[in-house]
Amino acid sequence: MASFVYAFVALVLGLVVGSFANVLIYRIPRRISILRPGSFCPDCKAPLTANEKIPVLSYLTLGGKCAHCGKRISPRYPIIELVNALGWLGVFAVEGFTFPGVVGCILFTGLLVAAATDLTEGVIPNKLCLGLGIFGLAASFYPFGLEPLESLLGALVGGGLLLIFALLGRLVFKREAMGGGDLKLLAASGAFLGWKLVLVAAFIAVVAGALYGAVYKLVTKKETLPFGPFLAAGVMAAYLAGDAILAWYLFL
Ligand SMILES: [Zn+2]
Repeated sequence: MASFVYAFVALVLGLVVGSFANVLIYRIPRRISILRPGSFCPDCKAPLTANEKIPVLSYLTLGGKCAHCGKRISPRYPIIELVNALGWLGVFAVEGFTFPGVVGCILFTGLLVAAATDLTEGVIPNKLCLGLGIFGLAASFYPFGLEPLESLLGALVGGGLLLIFALLGRLVFKREAMGGGDLKLLAASGAFLGWKLVLVAAFIAVVAGALYGAVYKLVTKKETLPFGPFLAAGVMAAYLAGDAILAWYLFL
């Protein structure tokens, strides 16, 4: 029963914070303050009433249209809210309502924002990476989980590894294989993972990105593909199951 209540709380909080994630995704790349003004329609700029700000439900009751100008609201908004809620539920299922669980939820939302801005705007904002990295390092001072030194080393290894990839890509393929945003995102994630698990995260991201990229190229004949979503997936997998993945891999 108790775990049912916890799951419900994780879902509801996940929806509310997912709504805030939408604010971050829209505002950080546009350099708009995340505190003021309050939420507004991106088309007509009309401020939203409390009834129009309920995660997912408002989108459904409004029929996916702005109540002020009637323009279509992107389905991205309820999708981000749902994905964040399900992510938080997933983190809760693995970690429980513990300190690493709460940190994992915040990491999940940060990665979701990074993946979404990379998909929609083609950038991973510096401020987001900086904020995440500082939070990850600060969390390591809590006496369960990573030590601060491991956290710092994770950031250095994560950033350094992608820097090497980026330089190799430029040398071998004569093009930008990886953006600076990817590098900063993996450095920030390394602060949550430590040096071992950040390697696991990078490995998962590169393999998943390469497989998907090969299929994507076959189907669409297009070259570029944002790497941020794969990094986000790799980091989350490493955070939740990295030790098990590492043990399995070393056993092979
Ligand atoms: Zn509007």
